[in-house]
Amino acid sequence: MHPMTAKIRLFVDHPLAQAQSVPLDRDQANYLFAVMRLSVGDQILVINGVDGEWLASVTAGSKRGGELTCLEQTRHLQTPPDLWLIFAPIKKARTDFIVEKATELGAAAIFPVQTDFTNSERIRQDRLQAHAIEATEQCGGTYVPQVHELQSLTKVLDTWPQDRYILFCDETKVGETPTPFDQLPKGKWAILIGPEGGFSDAERARLHAMSHAFPISLGPRILRADTAAVSALSLWQMTLGDWT
Ligand code: SAH
Repeated sequence: MHPMTAKIRLFVDHPLAQAQSVPLDRDQANYLFAVMRLSVGDQILVINGVDGEWLASVTAGSKRGGELTCLEQTRHLQTPPDLWLIFAPIKKARTDFIVEKATELGAAAIFPVQTDFTNSERIRQDRLQAHAIEATEQCGGTYVPQVHELQSLTKVLDTWPQDRYILFCDETKVGETPTPFDQLPKGKWAILIGPEGGFSDAERARLHAMSHAFPISLGPRILRADTAAVSALSLWQMTLGDWT
């Protein structure tokens, strides 16, 4: 085996199990055989977001396709804590960044939302989901958070599940003494981050009135939405999540 090849981690949309054969599509074949120059007998790691991580060997390979065969499970599925990230999409590269970092930092699901001051009207859900997959391949994870379609914040709040708290990152609280995260209740959570323009007065009033929502400050400076997302995810994971 080539010493580098075990480092390749590939996401496949196929069940993984002992001796399971996994067909490769054109893009995967191109990556493994043309770019990474693997050949029959080489081994890689595969994940599918459900069955953990498996060591697999190349059992067929051409320019247009190929096949892997699972040898043994190398990791069980490790699901992150039940934490959602809800955010208003911003510029393309920064939105991509938020999805990538949320995946690495262990968000269980990602919800782009349209708020009163959101500037981007559309997102490419499939592209964002592909970013989450790539981030999972790269960070050693076995779970891929689902990136949902864009929906309005109003609709999300209208159907808010009664058993989930909201960490409402409220820019008007900038400079206030930060909420001690370790005093927040344990359980299911969602982090809510606003767009570049922040939240409207109506949105803020609605969130402040929700008994599930905890408005918090992220320190003495106004952060960009992407920085705010990374900071809030890190703080939450460290006190209420799986970094403890
Ligand atoms: N234009 C707004 C700032 C928006 S920052 C203004 O000048 O007031 C984008 C988002 O990041 C905010 O909606 C909020 O969710 C979060 N955020 C940024 N800095 C924050 C802080 N210090 N405390 C709490 N949330 C913050």
